[in-house]
Amino acid sequence: MRLIRGAEVAEVMNSWMRNELAGLEGESPKLAIVRVGENPDDVSYERGAVKRMEKIGLRCECDTFPGDISDEKFREAFAKINADEDVTGILLLRPLPPQIDENAVIREISPEKDLDGISPVNMAKLYMGDDTCFAPCTAEAVIEVLDYAGVRLQGKNAVVIGRSLVVGKPLAQLLMQRNATVTVVHTRTADPEKICAQADIVIAAAGKARLVDASYIKPGAVVIDVGIHFDPETQKLCGDVNLESLGDLPSAATPVPGGVGSVTTSVLASHLIRAAKQSGKMKME
Ligand code: NAD
Repeated sequence: MRLIRGAEVAEVMNSWMRNELAGLEGESPKLAIVRVGENPDDVSYERGAVKRMEKIGLRCECDTFPGDISDEKFREAFAKINADEDVTGILLLRPLPPQIDENAVIREISPEKDLDGISPVNMAKLYMGDDTCFAPCTAEAVIEVLDYAGVRLQGKNAVVIGRSLVVGKPLAQLLMQRNATVTVVHTRTADPEKICAQADIVIAAAGKARLVDASYIKPGAVVIDVGIHFDPETQKLCGDVNLESLGDLPSAATPVPGGVGSVTTSVLASHLIRAAKQSGKMKME
């Protein structure tokens, strides 16, 4: 079985982006990361994103707000960031605390700056196959991993486990755009194992640690693990796939950590560069 390492995928993307920026005159595109509160997952994602932007040569600002900020104050501050001409793209870390009307913020974010595809405009564009859309970075990271690994999607049976707005649903759209035959299984699906065991490609985004074992996988399938969990027993990260239990059954698979998660911030950076081009701030190829 071939292990597809996310760092290798990210490095190819990063060097392409550094080349893109090499000839740039003036300031590079700027990302604003908006965080409310001190959720450790958000803090760690923010740290990774800042590092990635710096390495590629992109500017980044962190707009951090206290966890008990009022809806009115946050929305006012967010509107300023949204309108700031120096800000090319925005990453809003979610979920927001309950006192903030998250749906209102999602509707307010400028679609042209919405790098993680949370606005209804970008969702509609994704559904329509409009290539100016920003798809959610994690969903697109899966496609980058499959492309890097040379997995042909056309005519293949792909099963996505999970139907969230951030991963499962947008990923199903992206796979369909590549002419895969897509099935989405979820908590109410009858016999998910049986459906997955017929797939050429299984993508696990169920948010259930080690859910996928050998009963879900046919010999030679490609297995992509989107899940990230902290296992209190081993004190290590693990995914939705019990990779050790699969042995040599799959032809290729991504590990956790070190798989899809390592590619997400590179997709974010690529969206930032595209936002700069689409807004006319950077010359298009
Ligand atoms: P979510 O909880 O919003 O959605 C999970 C989906 O899986 C739901 O649609 C649910 O119906 C389905 N599901 C749950 N249990 C199932 C089961 N037993 N069989 C079939 N379907 C089942 O989660 P999410 O935000 O989509 O994230 C999924 C996983 O991906 C999580 O582990 C999360 O931590 C991880 N994640 C990783 C990244 C990354 O950068 N790698 C980014 C976002 C999320």
